[in-house]
Amino acid sequence: MLPPLCLSASGGGVAPEQQAPRHLSASSEASGELAGQASRVGSGRALLAADHRGRVWEPSQGSHVNDLRQSFAAEPGARVRASTSPTTFPRYLVPLPGEVPAAAANLPGERLVLLTFDDGPDLQGTPLILDELDRRNLRAVFFVMGQHIVRNRPEDLARRDLLRKLAVHGHHVGNHTMNHKDLCRNPDALAEEVDRAAELITYATGVRPLLFRSPYGARCHSLDRALAERDLVQVGWNADPREWRGNSENAIATYVTSLLARATAPVILLLHDKNMAAVQALPRILDWIEREKARVAREGGVPIRIVDYSVLLPEQHTTPQARSLTR
Ligand SMILES: [Zn+2]
Repeated sequence: MLPPLCLSASGGGVAPEQQAPRHLSASSEASGELAGQASRVGSGRALLAADHRGRVWEPSQGSHVNDLRQSFAAEPGARVRASTSPTTFPRYLVPLPGEVPAAAANLPGERLVLLTFDDGPDLQGTPLILDELDRRNLRAVFFVMGQHIVRNRPEDLARRDLLRKLAVHGHHVGNHTMNHKDLCRNPDALAEEVDRAAELITYATGVRPLLFRSPYGARCHSLDRALAERDLVQVGWNADPREWRGNSENAIATYVTSLLARATAPVILLLHDKNMAAVQALPRILDWIEREKARVAREGGVPIRIVDYSVLLPEQHTTPQARSLTR
């Protein structure tokens, strides 16, 4: 029997975001088609959008929350499709006080890996990651911070363009707040931190963020409620090479590949766009996965596969009204 992934409690003096989540959470099943698509109505700027639950929203001058609930496709007729997955995918959230941790997820006959990149976009690292993923036809989730795209300096414009490119290339641009605050310790900042980032991401990409990663992995009832009100799915991680410790490209690649080799549950890998050692380790990690696929095909064993963000989305239901918009 292979040992489970390391999900032990983290020690003191370690930056909380870099700590491994302590327990598995309940997972959500992803299946069906995501109706996160929009139709332009007539000409000009009129836009109607159906969100991922098929509800229809009209452009609003109202609050950030209302803006957040709009969904805009990158192009007229563009579609966001969630692949049907027969598996459940854990979200690896820190349990709330008194919460009974869910039983460890079983490996559904495959070693499934979701790639996630935090704290970007970064003008140096993110394009390199994007090229590498494109070259291999892979999709990832980028949890970005609003502070990188809020101003109008050339570099801010370039980062906004980068986000749009990520979305157009099929990656999900998720919400990682404006300023990376711990929203359980700063509850007064919650709405501004989450909603403003969502608004900026939607503006840059044309797609409303569906996934949220809490800075430092912080979790509390108030944040859970706020995310639920916004239809945001919170996503943790269970594989963290802790690049912040100055680990080398080699150390990062070795850590991740040895962890993948003994995975007994789906893996959510956390890397950071701005850490060049991690960026340089990525091709080595992906090469290892390719070699592992070939080895399993040759010798047998548990297959390994990189999945996209759709495994984290709740089951989708499309209303007739929303469907009519997509024709
Ligand atoms: Zn972060």
